[in-house]
Amino acid sequence: MMNNIESFAGQDILSVSQFDRASLNAIFGVAHDMRVLVERFGSAELLQGKILANLFYEPSTRTSSSFTAAMQRLGGQVISINNVQYSSVSKGESLPDTIRTLECYADVIVIRHPEVGAAATAAQYAEKPVINAGDGVGEHPTQALLDLFTVQEELKQMNGLTVVMVGDLRFGRTVHSLTKLLLKYSVSFVFVSPELLRLPADILEAVEACGHSYRQVEDLHTVIGEADVLYMTRVQRERFTDPAEYDRVKDFFVIDQELMEQAKERMIVMHPLPRVGEISYAMDDDPRAAYFRQMRNGMYIRMALLAALLGKV
Ligand code: ASP
Repeated sequence: MMNNIESFAGQDILSVSQFDRASLNAIFGVAHDMRVLVERFGSAELLQGKILANLFYEPSTRTSSSFTAAMQRLGGQVISINNVQYSSVSKGESLPDTIRTLECYADVIVIRHPEVGAAATAAQYAEKPVINAGDGVGEHPTQALLDLFTVQEELKQMNGLTVVMVGDLRFGRTVHSLTKLLLKYSVSFVFVSPELLRLPADILEAVEACGHSYRQVEDLHTVIGEADVLYMTRVQRERFTDPAEYDRVKDFFVIDQELMEQAKERMIVMHPLPRVGEISYAMDDDPRAAYFRQMRNGMYIRMALLAALLGKV
């Protein structure tokens, strides 16, 4: 468990369960400073001489480029392996050997992989810090940190909120991580999905064990008015084995301005992105649409994490 900013140095970030409220506050404080730094100066030299290896076995736009931008804005350098098909992975190299290789050259390794637990496996073989940038349907801890940071920046509170999570709660790893992280605060949950895409049993059990109030419903219309945070997600097509099943659920929820008329005036709409139709483009000008601000926050959170893991805060 990491409980102050100094205790981050040299650690891996594999799951949100590593954080407590004190460490979250600490990291959010540094992320806030990183925002000020970028807005005033654009960059700094804090991580000059340090190298990050960005190893992506699954597609990414925001996570990969925000880690790159975070490292570069702090004066560090990046080795990017975004197309593993052009690396020795396609020759059959094992994950442990790829990791052992990259840590010869880099000071910190970011990994995204289709298998649950792959980042933890990588961390077993690496002496250097490993950051889980998404392990299949498992977790996406840095996304959850930036999500929570966004809630704090936008609504200035965590406790007392009603969080409505919508869409693919079964396969959406960002939902898994964020739900677990929110259990550290007193929030109420409404989980909105078709039956096929409900939250996995272990996460629901964790919600119950913490005594948080929650409901599982299928109709967004009936609950949108309760939301302080409306967390939309895309249906994760790549996790379906049966394409017909995906087609059946893919257009289940779409939010547009008409639906948003029923929402509170002071609330936010979030989405880890990419969106594939769940939020109409007309929504983008609504001040409650926080998803672009949310992705900007990703860079500040990742700057804070890199600085902390490399012992520079
Ligand atoms: N970008 C997020 C992830 O990697 C969300 C998504 O892909 O739907 O999990």
